[in-house]
Amino acid sequence: MIIKIRGLEEGEHTFNFEESPSEYELEKARFSEQLVSEVRLDVLGKNYYLKVTTGTVYKVECDRCLEEMAIDMSIDTSLVYTEDNTLDPEHQEDDLRILPANEDTADLTDIVRQNLLVNLPMKNICMEECKGLCSQCGANLNIVECKCIDDKIDPRWEALKKLKTN
Ligand SMILES: [Zn+2]
Ligand SMILES: [Zn+2]
Repeated sequence: MIIKIRGLEEGEHTFNFEESPSEYELEKARFSEQLVSEVRLDVLGKNYYLKVTTGTVYKVECDRCLEEMAIDMSIDTSLVYTEDNTLDPEHQEDDLRILPANEDTADLTDIVRQNLLVNLPMKNICMEECKGLCSQCGANLNIVECKCIDDKIDPRWEALKKLKTN
């Protein structure tokens, strides 16, 4: 995501991008959809305020039943480029960058990529009531009811059941 920012008029500008996950070096198995971004740029004097919203789909297995699911992601990234060369380059931070005199463009690929990766969900459950896999036969208990379930019932409960029916 490279944007020519120097030389733009003061005020607001909008840019739209649709990019392949490979441009972001994202794992193909996890990201197969395009990354769709809207960039809002505000030019104020020597400063360029950028706000990026990036949407994509993240594919991952459910932690419980291991079925693949697709998670819609929307990531916001903000940063500022400045032409203010009185700023000490040593103090350049990730969200405040100095636009060198010989450059016209802002490359947002890395910061968007990093932001996407740190915001990946840690827990992935396909549905609240996902029953997961049977610990004995490995069957997906959302789809089938395997016979192992009976064996799992505590024998003491069996005794209680008998009492109730009597
Ligand atoms: Zn699940
Ligand atoms: Zn089972």
